[in-house]
Amino acid sequence: MKILFAASEAYPYIKTGGLGDVIYSMPAALAALGEDVRLILPGYREVMQSMTDAQVVASFEVPGAGVSHRVKILRAVQNPDADYLHLVDIPALFDREGNPYVNQLGHSWPDNAERYAVFSRAVAMFGTLASEVSWRPDVIHCHDWQTGLIPAFLNQMKSQIKTVFTIHNLSYDGYFSHHEFSQLQLPDHWWSPEYIEFYGGFSMIKAGMVFASHVTTVSPTYAREICTPEFGHRYDGVLRHLGNRLSGILNGIDLEVWNPVTDQHIAARYSVNRNRITATRSNKLDLLKQTSLVTDDAPLLGFIGRLVAQKGIDLVMGMLPDLFARSAACVVVLGAGEKIYEQNLLALQQRFPDRLHVHIGYSESLAHKIEAGCDMFLMPSRFEPCGLNQMYSLRYGTPPLVRRTGGLADTVIGVSETTLQNKTANGFMFQQPGIEILLRTTLTALEYYARPRIWQQICRTAMLSDLGWDSSAREYQKLYMTDVEAMP
Ligand code: ADP
Repeated sequence: MKILFAASEAYPYIKTGGLGDVIYSMPAALAALGEDVRLILPGYREVMQSMTDAQVVASFEVPGAGVSHRVKILRAVQNPDADYLHLVDIPALFDREGNPYVNQLGHSWPDNAERYAVFSRAVAMFGTLASEVSWRPDVIHCHDWQTGLIPAFLNQMKSQIKTVFTIHNLSYDGYFSHHEFSQLQLPDHWWSPEYIEFYGGFSMIKAGMVFASHVTTVSPTYAREICTPEFGHRYDGVLRHLGNRLSGILNGIDLEVWNPVTDQHIAARYSVNRNRITATRSNKLDLLKQTSLVTDDAPLLGFIGRLVAQKGIDLVMGMLPDLFARSAACVVVLGAGEKIYEQNLLALQQRFPDRLHVHIGYSESLAHKIEAGCDMFLMPSRFEPCGLNQMYSLRYGTPPLVRRTGGLADTVIGVSETTLQNKTANGFMFQQPGIEILLRTTLTALEYYARPRIWQQICRTAMLSDLGWDSSAREYQKLYMTDVEAMP
């Protein structure tokens, strides 16, 4: 089948989080199963600059906010490594410095509604116009709110192209005002609760939910959770209404990029049966060299992620003074995000310079070193659609400590008497988010760390966890082939 992936970011071209990783690894897994997959992204400045040999394969006018944009679709036809990639070139909307979604001050770009509405309309037009006659998608697989209007525009165009819409994180929904709705020249009848109107504004993620042939999210547990008011971000009613048009398919990870056997970022390479213990030690020492920590033999805990409440970074900060008082543990944090968390982390580092190392910023290489060099990985997310870092930790034999939610619940098997006995335990888990329970679970995990035989068993089980894309890619294949049910 011909499948066009539409997304707002993709590793290695442009990445701000897990979405970028998945838009790299999922198409690769489908291609390995024989599918003909291509990817379409906005032509951000950074990506355009790296695609010097791209050619225009289509060009047309797309209505925007009161104006019309001349859109060019580019493709690096001569480059076999990148010829699956298409870029939607609209300089007025995407040729700017910085992050795809926010400006230098960390505020959303003021024209985000127009940027992603025009991108979505351009993708729908590109799909249906079949400008490249030889390649016309059977399915457009859309990801997150930035692409939510694609199924809506296809419906408006009465296109037969099937759509799958995947929600990677419901808390980012692309919610805009009535003023923006009117400016964007959208059909009037869409301004209704049945369609994309939502609590007095309109929502691009809702457009995906309403108009796509099928809606998925990135883990079975999150698919159930978002149908409840606690996790539904006010969309739980819409989502419950989808019935069996909604399903949860667990993300996999790229087993090549995250592979301790070949990883060039880490000091010593290892596998579950080769060099594991000695390499882990070398990787820990290598990581420590970059910090001011004096752990030597003390356990080292890692955290990597966006510094936002979702990830429970405030819970980690809340427990650190007690953790340092009651154990020898040291902690390494790599992340960037809300200023308040960044500042508080740096202040804590000043208070505990030999116990806490904070790296504010983004570093792919340090992320690999932390996964390989730490003894344990902290991921106490309040909610977690799927989560990749806990899977990277499993792959590197660094047991994750997580809240039982979303994809964390679907990938981590917490230590208990039973899971230790049947050798399925690969990490640690707690139920409700809170500083006290996080501290208690961490202290319990440290007790296991002090029992090398059991600890090594947990690390080995972690490394043997099934984390690849194979079975999930087959589930998506099945969805692509399922008949389309009637749309509105
Ligand atoms: P989310 O998509 O919600 O941010 P995930 O766990 O699904 O969380 O994926 C996060 C991805 O981004 C992982 O690949 C992780 O290693 C990476 N990442 C997040 N923050 C940083 C950072 N500061 N430096 C390097 N990599 C980071």
